[in-house]
Amino acid sequence: MTTKYDYIIVGAGSSGAVLAARLTEDPERSVLLLEAGPDYAKIEETPEDLLNSYWISAVDHDWGFKADAVEGREIVYTRGKVTGGSSAVNGAVAIRGVPQDYDEWASLGNEAWAWEKCLPFFRKLEDDQDESGDFHGKGGPIPVVRWKDEELRPLQKAFKDVCLERGFPFHEDFNAPDATGMSPLAQNREGRTRISTAIGYLSGIRGRLNLTIRPHCLVRRVLIEDGRAIGLEVESGGETQRVEGNEIILSAGAVQSPPILLRSGIGAKDEVEALGIPLVHESPGVGHNLIEHPMAAVLCAPKEGVIDMEKPLVQTLLRYTADGGEENDMQMYMMNHIDLRDLPEMMENFGIEVAFGVFPGLQRPQSRGHLRVESMDPSEAPGIELNFLDTEADKRRMREGMRIAWEVTNSPAVMEHVDHILLLDQETIDDDEALDQYVWDTAIQIFHPVGTAKMGPAEDPEAVVDQYGRVHGVDGLRVADASIMPNITRANTNLTCIMIGEKVAASIRGE
Ligand SMILES: Cc1cc2nc3c(=O)[nH]c(=O)nc-3n(C[C@H](O)[C@H](O)[C@H](O)COP(=O)(O)OP(=O)(O)OC[C@H]3O[C@@H](n4cnc5c(N)ncnc54)[C@H](O)[C@@H]3O)c2cc1C
Repeated sequence: MTTKYDYIIVGAGSSGAVLAARLTEDPERSVLLLEAGPDYAKIEETPEDLLNSYWISAVDHDWGFKADAVEGREIVYTRGKVTGGSSAVNGAVAIRGVPQDYDEWASLGNEAWAWEKCLPFFRKLEDDQDESGDFHGKGGPIPVVRWKDEELRPLQKAFKDVCLERGFPFHEDFNAPDATGMSPLAQNREGRTRISTAIGYLSGIRGRLNLTIRPHCLVRRVLIEDGRAIGLEVESGGETQRVEGNEIILSAGAVQSPPILLRSGIGAKDEVEALGIPLVHESPGVGHNLIEHPMAAVLCAPKEGVIDMEKPLVQTLLRYTADGGEENDMQMYMMNHIDLRDLPEMMENFGIEVAFGVFPGLQRPQSRGHLRVESMDPSEAPGIELNFLDTEADKRRMREGMRIAWEVTNSPAVMEHVDHILLLDQETIDDDEALDQYVWDTAIQIFHPVGTAKMGPAEDPEAVVDQYGRVHGVDGLRVADASIMPNITRANTNLTCIMIGEKVAASIRGE
C-alpha cells in the first residue's frame, strides 16, 4: 500500500519545522517532514555545536557550499543541514525587520504581509522574557532574551559606550517598531542553549501520530502531472524513491528551494532545458533576485587576555541610517572573537590565532545575485553568485560604515583592548578608491540569503509564488521559506522565516 500524506514538507528549518508543527495541530491532517540532514529528537542527544548559541556552527551540520561574494572571489557559505535547519546553527540573533519592510512586501501586491498582519505571528512565535505589551508575545515556542548591562563583555561595553558618546540613541528593545541606534542584542536562547525550531517547535510534538519526520532524505524533484504536484522523488537509504502527497511545500531555504523547482521543470526556459528536461512551467524568477546582507570589518589583534572563546560572540548591536540611505539601512556589530584557526591563510599572515572586529553590514542592498543549477543531481551544490557591491549606493554606504567602524575602533575605550589593527590604515580609510577595494577584497555574508522564489501577483513575470506561497502555474505546490521574501528585511532573517512558517500554515488552515 502506498502511503499518501496530506502535506509533504521539504526541509525542517526555520520555516519548515514551524509549518509541520502548526499543520499537525489538526489531527485530521497528516504531514511528512523530509530533511536531508540528521535529526536529534531530544536535547540530551543533540550535539554541542547545535546547542551552543555563543558561537555559530559552521562545520559539523553544514552543506559545505561556497559562494562568489564578488566576481572571482569565493567565500564559505554556511547553511544548516539538520532538523532546525539554519536556525540550529546560527547566531541566535532574534530581531524582526522594521514595519516598513513588511509594508513594502504588501505594496508589491502581497497585501497579506502588511506589518499589522505579520505582527500577530511575530507575537505568536515568541516567549519574550523581558518585554510585554502590544508588540510582544508570551508563551510561544521561541524564547527571546536580551543581554543585561552587567553581562556585557568589556569589548561590548566599550562598543556600546562609544556609540552612545557619538550620539547614537539607545533603545532597550530592538523589536519595538520604532527602535534605532544601540540596543542589547535580543537572542533566541535559554541560558547558553540556542532554541532552534527543532527544539522550540518539534521537540514537544514528536508523539503526534499525524506527524512523520524523516531525516537523511534528500529531495531530488517534485513530481508533476497535468499541471499538479503529486509527490516527490527522494533519495533515502541509497535508493531513489517516490512519495505522494496532496500538497507539496518546499521549505528548503533560499539556496535550495529554487534548485528543486528547476529540477522539476519550473524556471527560466533556457535554464530548465539546459538540465536536459522539459519545461513544465516557465517562471524566470526562479533562482534570481538573490539578496544577501554584505559586511566588512575593521579587524584587530587583541591585547593579551582580551579574548575568551568560551564567551558570547556578540551582545550589542548598532542600527543606523546611512547618509542618503533608507531608515535603519545599516547594522554594526562588535564581534568579541574571530577564530583564525578556521582561516589558516589569515592566521599565517597575521601571526595570531584569534582576532576581534567591528563589522558594518548593509541591510538594504540594491545589488542582486542569482543561483546557477547545472545538474539534476541534488547532491551537487548550486552556484551561488552574491554579486555584492554592484551599485554605487551599496559601495557608498559600505565606505561610510567602514569609516564609522574605524572611528569607533580608534576610540580610547576600544583601543584599550587593541594590540594593533590588521590590514587597514588611515590612508586607506581616507581614500575612496582604496577603501572600495578593501571592501571588495574582504566583504563577507551575514548568512541571510532571501528572495530567490519571490512572492507577487501572477502579472509580475518575476514572481514565482503568490502571497500564500502557491507556485504560479502549478497546483498543489508551495514554497514557504526565505526564498519568498520579495526584498530583504533590515534585520537578521531567522525570526522572519519563522513568521513565514506561522503565516503560511495559518493561511493553509484557513485562519
Ligand atoms: C551560520 C548562520 C548564522 C546565522 N545567524 C543568524 C542570526 O543570528 N539571526 C538570524 O535572524 N538569522 C541568522 N541566520 C539566518 C537564518 O538562520 C536563516 O535566514 C533561516 O534559518 C532560513 O530559514 P529557511 O527556513 O529559509 O531555511 P533553513 O532554516 O536553512 O532550512 C532549510 C532546510 O531544508 C533542508 N534541505 C535543503 N535542501 C533539501 C533537500 N533537497 N531535501 C531535503 N531537505 C533539504 C536543509 O537541510 C535545512 O534543514 C544565520 C544563518 C546561518 C547559516
